[in-house]
Amino acid sequence: MSLYKSQILKIYNSLSGEKETFVPINEGNIGMYVCGPTVYSNVHLGNVRTFMSFDVIFRYLLHLEYKVRYVRNITDVGHIVDDAEDGEDKIAKKARLEQLEPMEVVQRYTIDFHDILKAFNFLPPSIEPTATGHIIEQIEIIKKIIDSGIGYEANGSVYFDVVKFNKTNHYGRLSGRNIEDMLANTRDLDGQTDKRNPQDFALWKKAEPQHIMRWPSPWSDGFPGWHLECTAMSTKYLGNHFDIHGGGMDLKFPHHECEIAQNEACTGQTPVNYWMHANMLTLNGKKMAKSTGNNILPGEILTGKNNILSKAFSASVARFFMLQAHYRSILDFSDDAIVAAEKGYKRLMEALETLKDLNSSSTSSLAIEAWKQSCYDAMNDDFNSPILIANLFEGVRYINLINDEKETLNAVDLATLSATMQAFVFDVLGLEDEKVADSSSDKLEGTVNMLIGMRNQARADKNFALSDQIRDQLITLGIQLKDGKEGTTFTV
Ligand code: AMP
Ligand code: ZN
Repeated sequence: MSLYKSQILKIYNSLSGEKETFVPINEGNIGMYVCGPTVYSNVHLGNVRTFMSFDVIFRYLLHLEYKVRYVRNITDVGHIVDDAEDGEDKIAKKARLEQLEPMEVVQRYTIDFHDILKAFNFLPPSIEPTATGHIIEQIEIIKKIIDSGIGYEANGSVYFDVVKFNKTNHYGRLSGRNIEDMLANTRDLDGQTDKRNPQDFALWKKAEPQHIMRWPSPWSDGFPGWHLECTAMSTKYLGNHFDIHGGGMDLKFPHHECEIAQNEACTGQTPVNYWMHANMLTLNGKKMAKSTGNNILPGEILTGKNNILSKAFSASVARFFMLQAHYRSILDFSDDAIVAAEKGYKRLMEALETLKDLNSSSTSSLAIEAWKQSCYDAMNDDFNSPILIANLFEGVRYINLINDEKETLNAVDLATLSATMQAFVFDVLGLEDEKVADSSSDKLEGTVNMLIGMRNQARADKNFALSDQIRDQLITLGIQLKDGKEGTTFTV
């Protein structure tokens, strides 16, 4: 029997504002879409937090033995500077400033994103589609929204008429707004817009002559609006009605509100059963953001090269730091807080080492099954990772008591304690045992130094064919030798 059948999972649904019992549309299967990064600069630690929140959610759903199709996109067109409706595309702007092709910008920062996720032990999504790879699908959706009477063309651009939509549907349901208030609070500053209402949003924008990211369409050579890509890619891979849609809290309005409106106008049905929003990582009490410079880069955590850091921290420590807060709470980053997290993480890892050597007894003096269920209860309660971590430290207390021969467990209970600790620490929270990582880098260093020694010997023997062969084969493995005054060193 699949594990999910014995657990009742509750998810806080941003749409209802309540924790709801999770029931997937198709039993045993889950479709989950999470808005991915706009790849115009390096991801900061705040972005990493949001993606980590969903990584742990994905991991727990897999642990419960659901079959999950997890789609996380790459935004490589259509996202305008300052999240505005008019203005320059974020990627096109970066390309102009750095004199690169927009796709060079996209490639550079997509690689950075993937490197970071790998370093922080993220599971890859099932599908990672790009907005530019789905222009045709976006054009098809625009046609349907025009056919439904909600989309209208003006001077080669196409807009979504929110006022007309709101006559039959509710624009603002997700973000708790209503259209009358929104209209009352917006002034049309330049009066030059083609829009019927100031709240209308772009489905397609006609490109100015100097705009390089452009595609042909029935309306003009142009580019899609930002909100459209997620409607196109989520429904293409998950269907018109799917289980979970996530993203950072700041995407609730307008991005997700517009996604719902587009889907409803296009298919007549609401797209998503459970909307989930992860809260922000702050620095000095303010949201980390690329645009303001108030941020810290994930790579800086690993090297310690940032003035606010007293030292370097491992990726697992950063993960542990973030997962000590619930995904819907704001979390403020500080050196003190991550130093404290490092102590907690080490205590957990030490206990897991101790656990390996524990012996069982004939009887148990601890209620291990109840403790195990408390770990599930924490995650079943809207993925409450801080409560889970508190329960794992209760497990650490048990381990130490058994080690000190103050409590005992029989063989079955000891195996349950061990399997549960391992499953939640490594599979669900995605922490890694740094010692393993350390020992593999030690091994690499030892091996390369041994080859450097053999190369030195070959040179001394004037066997240059062999010494060159060692150097060249290391290069093909991505290891570069450098000969200097102090001897030979290497970079990976
Ligand atoms: P972007 O690349 O700006 O589209 O953002 C990628 C994701 O990171 C989105 O889900 C944002 O909501 C999220 N995000 C942006 N800033 C922060 C922050 N300071 N803390 C947590 N998540 C953030
Ligand atoms: Zn999106």
